[in-house]
Amino acid sequence: MTYAFTDTDGHHLDIQADTDLDGQPVITAWTRGTFARVPVRIPLDRIEELVAGIREAGRQAARGPNPQHVGGRANAENCPACWGTNPPYPFLCPGGTP
Ligand SMILES: [Zn+2]
Repeated sequence: MTYAFTDTDGHHLDIQADTDLDGQPVITAWTRGTFARVPVRIPLDRIEELVAGIREAGRQAARGPNPQHVGGRANAENCPACWGTNPPYPFLCPGGTP
């Protein structure tokens, strides 16, 4: 059985049951249409780690890029990177000069 994922650009990722070079059971993932198809073999006891990493990458993507400090000794209340933090008095953004 092969699980095939195709993104909106038509790029494919195939995942299938396989064995590693020592004959141990793994799942193997690779992309289609590249010059060198390099298989990535994932041991069965690390599948949940892989899925957790994919989920965390998705959460980071949903949040967007990290906010940047305003800097320049601006009021920390006006800085998106300082928002929700508790900077020391006098509440100035610790970021560099923009
Ligand atoms: Zn800041």
